[in-house]
Amino acid sequence: MEQHTRMLEAEPVYRANRLTIERFSLERARVALRAAAPRTITIPVVVHVLHSTAAENISEEQVRSQIAVLNQDFQRKNPDRSQTPAPFRGAIGNPKVRFQLAVRDPNGSPTNGITRTPTTKPQFDSGANDIKFTAQGGRDAWPRDRYLNLWVGGTVVDPVVGALLGYAQFPGGPAATDGVVIAATGFGTLGTAQAPFNKGRTATHEIGHWLNLLHIWGDDNGGCQGSDNVADTPNQAGPNSGCPSFPHRTCQNGPHGDMFMNYMDYTDDACMFMFTKGQVARMRTTLQGPRATILASDALAPAARVARLALPTRAPKASLATLVGAEAGSQVTTVFDGAGWVQVGAR
Ligand SMILES: [Zn+2]
Repeated sequence: MEQHTRMLEAEPVYRANRLTIERFSLERARVALRAAAPRTITIPVVVHVLHSTAAENISEEQVRSQIAVLNQDFQRKNPDRSQTPAPFRGAIGNPKVRFQLAVRDPNGSPTNGITRTPTTKPQFDSGANDIKFTAQGGRDAWPRDRYLNLWVGGTVVDPVVGALLGYAQFPGGPAATDGVVIAATGFGTLGTAQAPFNKGRTATHEIGHWLNLLHIWGDDNGGCQGSDNVADTPNQAGPNSGCPSFPHRTCQNGPHGDMFMNYMDYTDDACMFMFTKGQVARMRTTLQGPRATILASDALAPAARVARLALPTRAPKASLATLVGAEAGSQVTTVFDGAGWVQVGAR
């Protein structure tokens, strides 16, 4: 969020984009809420693993454990949703979003959807976004219109608030830095993942931001004035942490209090297990608007073993003449130019 705030201050175009997207979301999300059940959308993912130690070069199994969590949480299949307090159960939404590791890289070659890059950096800086640039010890993004980029680094530090579990870029920002960064200690459910952030919910939360969700407390640091622009999440003072007991009331939001079990709060992984219908409408709206291009991605179409030849169907006469002339000296040559036989090289 600090990174988001800095960008709002430093980049007027980003600020304008955010306002445009917010207006679009407010209008469209109301329609999306009333619409019939939408079809499932699949988002191609590339995971960029940066490693300065052997342990940070996390296993493919750990990467897949993270994708599995996302496929539960974003399809309302997570078994722990049964722990949602009764008054909030009716609000649980189903985003109907699947995540799948890419099988085709930006060049059209086969991939397992994971890049691995050694680095000399012991930690990455969220302010500099160095993890997202090969030249800065990170790894360049794959095109954001076709891939959700997830970067995993050993340690990620914000220059203001210190160590981070992760951070995300909202829709409307620069292409080169678009995606989600997660510390290896909060990624997936095994390997380097450490309790209480070893149930993959950091990625669920950050991808919520990538799909334009705001923090559930409205980012006003306890003011009770800020909003996440979603109608079915209670007004809440500030972030919750750990594992609060229900009900936990702030901002006179009784009787049920904060929805601290929402993915967009800061509670422990084991204590968050729901998006609301209003949040789902916002995310689906984002996939119809600022992130719509990802629906047409070819990243999940298996790469052909032999690439299709793409030759020009009709060579320009001038260049053909030059080519043949160079080969044949000043002799006259008759060639087929795609439409008819022509004489070239007669100079
Ligand atoms: Zn957040």
